[in-house]
Amino acid sequence: MSVVLITGASRGIGAACARAFARAGYDVAVNYHHSKEKADALVDEITAFGVRAVAVCADVADSGQVKGMFAAVRSQLGEVNILVNSAGIAHTGLLTDMTDGEWDRLIGADLSGTFYCCREALPDMIRAHSGVIVNIASMWGEVGASCEAAYSAAKAGVIGLTKALAKEVGPSGVRVNAVSPGVIMTDMMAGFSEDDIAALKDETPLNTLGTPGDIAEAALFLASDQARFITGQVLSVNGGFVI
Ligand code: NAP
Repeated sequence: MSVVLITGASRGIGAACARAFARAGYDVAVNYHHSKEKADALVDEITAFGVRAVAVCADVADSGQVKGMFAAVRSQLGEVNILVNSAGIAHTGLLTDMTDGEWDRLIGADLSGTFYCCREALPDMIRAHSGVIVNIASMWGEVGASCEAAYSAAKAGVIGLTKALAKEVGPSGVRVNAVSPGVIMTDMMAGFSEDDIAALKDETPLNTLGTPGDIAEAALFLASDQARFITGQVLSVNGGFVI
């Protein structure tokens, strides 16, 4: 039985990943930061699939808390075999209006958090000569979004980290890939008006927006043995928005 740790799993894409991995028979560590009730409810829901699951609180932007989270998961479920880095926040606005604090908060959650979790997960994976990391990037990290410069920079950083780390740890039997979502209907889209959402849908060649489950299926595939020869890749799941 493999153990997967999913960051930002209390809501949205991370929660969909938790459901998909549990349904596939993985034991799941559900990381949350503020949404304890949602994380606890999700653990109750997915244990019904006959797997073990635990909720673990940590701000991924804090390396000390990330260390504590991995120790808690190791003691409750065992070594982490698969890491899915989904925790993230967004920020919309002109770069010239962005404060140092807003920049640091976004880079901390979206980029440094991925680094801290990878650094914590890798020693066990390298020792076992086996392991998979799936980072949730964004199509804006591929092509950049106006008024989302910091977010685009963080996600471009996640893509660079994914490619470089894949080269670094491939010889040690560890695969590292990214899923790059397009527009996915989660709380992260709450600030968008109905008109904005309709316009994004119109711009999408498949003429529909994505669901958290679309991203979870891609992450599950990349984590599986079916993807044993795939590393350092960015799987874009965006309905054709960015090609
Ligand atoms: P969401 O619904 O807003 O959920 C965000 C999740 O991240 C929550 O579970 C939240 O936990 C967690 N989180 C945020 N900051 C955290 C921190 N510092 N430490 C630990 N957990 C933290 O967002 P989503 O749409 O599922 O996004 C998930 C990932 O997909 C993000 O990396 C996002 O950038 C990426 N993405 C989303 C879209 C989209 O259209 N939705 C598109 C491209 C990429 P708590 O609630 O417990 O605090």
